[in-house]
Amino acid sequence: MIKKFSITLAIYPILPFATWWLKHHEKFALRRGRKLSDEELLWSQKIGIKHADKVRILAINKIPTPLPSFIENFLQHRGFPAGNASGMCMRYGIYAKETNAHSKFLIAHELVHTQQYERLGSIWAFLKAYLQETTLLGYIHSPLEKEANATAEAILNNDFPTTT
Ligand SMILES: [Zn+2]
Repeated sequence: MIKKFSITLAIYPILPFATWWLKHHEKFALRRGRKLSDEELLWSQKIGIKHADKVRILAINKIPTPLPSFIENFLQHRGFPAGNASGMCMRYGIYAKETNAHSKFLIAHELVHTQQYERLGSIWAFLKAYLQETTLLGYIHSPLEKEANATAEAILNNDFPTTT
């Protein structure tokens, strides 16, 4: 509890910059990215994305990071894919590393993050929750990441529970 509180305090000062940075990259991906394929639109429906028509996917050489390299190294040691991520979701703008851009799992995973942004209400709210979780629990144990992996897997295995 105290740990969560102090982490929240530590996260607050970086939220304005981090939110601005993500919005900037969202705009970039929205301007240059491609629309979702029919198959990806179907996944989006299953995931529960409200505005799948807004989503654009941009294949890029390297996923950008706002972090200086010594912090990247520190995070890599703690299990974060900092600096060598294969994708990144900025709400409706999604970056996919060129070498992974054809990975269905990657696209489905990032689309789950799009739904999480919608569900949490804003880039700010998503980022706050995401940073809290990953700092407190680590990247692989973060519920938002676990949900993205589990849902992507279920969709690709075609055993996604259909809600009516
Ligand atoms: Zn993820």
